[in-house]
Order: sequence, then structure tokens, then C-alpha cells
Amino acid sequence: MDYLPLFHNLKGRNVLVVGGGEIALRKVRLVQQASAIITIVGKEFCADLLAMDASDKEHGCNGLHLITAAYDHSHLLALDQVALMIAATNDHELNRLAASHARAANILANVVDDPGFSTVIFPSIIDRSPIQIAISSGGDAPVLVRLLRTKLEALLPAGLSKLAALAGSFRERVKAKFDSGSDRKAFWEEVFYGPIAEQAYANNLQVAERLLQEKLDATSAFKTGEVYLVGGGPGDPDLLTFKALRLMQQADIVLYDRLVSAEVLNLVRRDATRIYVGKTAGDHPVTQENINQKLVEYARAGNRVVRLKGGDPFIFGRGGEEIETLAAEGIPFQVVPGITAASGCASYAGIPLTHRDHAQSVRFIAGHLRSGEMDLNWPELVQPNQTLVFYMGLSGMETICRSLKAHGLAASTPAALIEKGTTDQQRVFVGDLDSLPSIVRDAGAKAPTLIIVGHVVSLQSTLAWFNIKE
Ligand code: SAH
Repeated sequence: MDYLPLFHNLKGRNVLVVGGGEIALRKVRLVQQASAIITIVGKEFCADLLAMDASDKEHGCNGLHLITAAYDHSHLLALDQVALMIAATNDHELNRLAASHARAANILANVVDDPGFSTVIFPSIIDRSPIQIAISSGGDAPVLVRLLRTKLEALLPAGLSKLAALAGSFRERVKAKFDSGSDRKAFWEEVFYGPIAEQAYANNLQVAERLLQEKLDATSAFKTGEVYLVGGGPGDPDLLTFKALRLMQQADIVLYDRLVSAEVLNLVRRDATRIYVGKTAGDHPVTQENINQKLVEYARAGNRVVRLKGGDPFIFGRGGEEIETLAAEGIPFQVVPGITAASGCASYAGIPLTHRDHAQSVRFIAGHLRSGEMDLNWPELVQPNQTLVFYMGLSGMETICRSLKAHGLAASTPAALIEKGTTDQQRVFVGDLDSLPSIVRDAGAKAPTLIIVGHVVSLQSTLAWFNIKE
């Protein structure tokens, strides 16, 4: 190991910065966040440093002192107990000279972009205070460090700070309750890996605090169950949200639908019990009431239950009905949106749903037949400059195309059907209201399919980008 990572407490301590330009500014901002008292020596100062200084004075903070001068040794000698020097001018020799003064006095020194002359180097920082992650390549591969940082940033919930702060406020109470370190560890693991953490991430801090207190008060091992209604998107697992993935990976039980792709289901925690509740489940389809009841039962038994649905749970997904039951029964729940079939299929087919030249609005329509009929407000659907997206429309496609024509849409209005959108089996069929039904019939398209009608469909031939067969 070339460098030992340590976290430096600079609160109220002196830091000397040599240089007043943009590079110094970046370091000053960091050091200021750590509440140091900063003296900056520079021949001149950039506008942002001057503004920081003005604001510091205005608020009476007294944390920033600017000295307009060329740096020399006297500036270091004049300060009491300097904790850190940062040399950040664009003059390499001057930076090295300043660093040598610091080293001689056993003061930590950082020379910007010159690790060889530094005793300490600045890491790349992910700040979810009080949680902090510092990454460094010792100066060897800063771009790689930046990439890693982006990856880690994406993995860490934005609410991590709130959770850590909440844990901090309970630390003493938990210590007082559990004598043994391993009991404390088990307690905190349950907190950080379940509904209490999720409530904190969802910014429901009072609920999280109450649950944490209840958990602490409970004498035996107390477990609160919760239901997560999660949108699994249209098929491509890359379209899951970070939150969906996180909850899927902590689930005890997963209830999933026919529309959830195998690739998405694969991302559920290995040990979780998976229960298929698809609407076409063999001879005994699971009724909606039955599903609602199961969710309540499993959560009451203390499980983290993921109800995984295709697309978005609130778009033709009966998500509302399921959580109404949970709400009535007092079971905590959360809803995680997913990419709905219309967004997923349109993007992956190369059909923008709106476009300034073609459509200023878009409608999502349930296009299924009810006893051979489709009860829709057709005059509204044939208004100009709008895109129509029909879900569940495969068997009713002829009725859809015929009715739209009968109510005034031109037979030449472009229309497309997307089969198994966003998956590697995606097929896109393009025609118009006259031709699409026979094109689709001849190709033997199978559900799930989505129908898009409107002039935006004419863009597909130029904008297609996914799963293109040459
Ligand atoms: N909640 C889901 C929709 C459920 S209704 C969502 O937001 O996407 C089921 C209908 O969604 C299917 O009949 C089909 O029209 C559409 N659908 C879902 N996934 C699809 C996919 N990968 N490709 C095409 N259509 C899809």
C-alpha cells in the first residue's frame, strides 16, 4: 500500500493554501466543508474566492483569510499550528518550495498534481455525510477513479446520509440495550437491510424513527414486514431502477406476473421464495383478491414482500387495487415506478411518442375486447396531432383499426405493432391502419404486443436502433 487512507479532522484548525486561482478554489471548497480555518496566500484571487471571502465576512464566520502577496516562508511561520498546507499555484517551483517548508516543520503538505512532492493526496470523494467514501489510485489513474466513483455513486441511495444520521442518534440507546457486540451487530444489520432503512430512504424520517424505537423496545426478535410494489419494466433488465434492484435483492418473498421477464426475475435474491401469480396460471388462475390477501398474509408474518409487475405498477397494472388492501390492513408499503411498455417499446422501436412536427400529446389506452366489444370514446381518439398507444390490443387489433377509420382517421395513418419490446426477441411491424392487421397476422405475432398509431410511426424507418436484422 503506497498510501494509508485516514480521515482528517480539520475542524477549527489552520490550513494554509498557497495560490488564489481556480485550482486553489476547488481545494478551498473541500477544506471549508471540513470547517477548517483557511489562510490563502496569492498574488491575486479568482472571483469565486473573493465571493467566498465576502460571504464568510458577511456571516461573521471568520474562517477565511486572504493575503495578497507572493508566498514566502514567513507566511507559514506566522501561523500557529498549521495542520495542512496545500500548494496550488501554477508555478511548480514555488509549489515545491512551499511544500519543502511544510515538510521541514512536519506539516502535512499537498502539492496539486505533484504526488511526488506531497505527503498527503486528495482522494476522489463520495459524500453522504456522515458516510464518506474516499477513492484513490495514488495518482496513477485519475480517470479510472472518476469512473469508479460514478459507479459507486449510482449504487448508493441518496438517502444514505439520513439513515446514517438516524443510526447515529440511536447509537447510545442501542448500546445501552445490548451488552454484547454481536447482538448489536445483528440488530443493526436488520435495521440497515429492511423496512426501517427503506423508510429513511423514502424520506419518511419520522416513520423510520418510530419503527426503530419500536424495534428497540420489542423484547424478542421483532421483525416488521413490508410490501414493495415494484415495476419490473418491459423486459430488458437494464431498464430496472436502482431502487427496484435493491428491493429485489433483499426480498424474502416475490410474487410475480407473466409479464416479468426471466432476466428480470433472475435478479431477485437467490434465497427468496418466488411465487407465480400470473393471470393465465394453468387451470387455477389466481384471483386478484387472492393476491391481495397473500400480500397481507406474508407481510404480517414479518416478510419483506416484493410484488413484481411488468412495466409500471400504476399503468394498467392494478397496482392501485393491491395497495388499497394493504393500506386498509395497515401494512407498510412502497411503490417503485417502472418503465411502462409504451416508453420502453417506443424507445426501442425508434418511435418518439411526441414530436413537434407530428404529435403534441399521447394517450395510453386499454385495447382489450370485453365480450367481443371495445367500449372506447372513439371521437376523442381520432383528434389530430396525437399518438395513440394501445396496450393489450393484439386480439382486438382489427376492431381498433376499423373503428379509428370509421371515426375519421385516414386509412393511411401510420401504425406499428411491437412484439416483446425491449427484449432480444423484439419484432417491430410497421404499416398503416389498412395494412397492419394483415401484416401482423401473417407474421404470427404473439403477446405481449403494443400498438402505436400516429404520424410519429413514420419516423421509425430512420430512427430504429435496437435489434436490427440486416
Ligand atoms: N403495467 C404494464 C402494463 C400491463 S398491461 C406496463 O406499464 O407496461 C399488459 C400489456 O402491456 C400487454 O398486453 C402489452 O400490451 C403491454 N406490454 C407489456 N410488456 C410489453 C412488451 N415487452 N412488449 C410489448 N408490449 C408489452
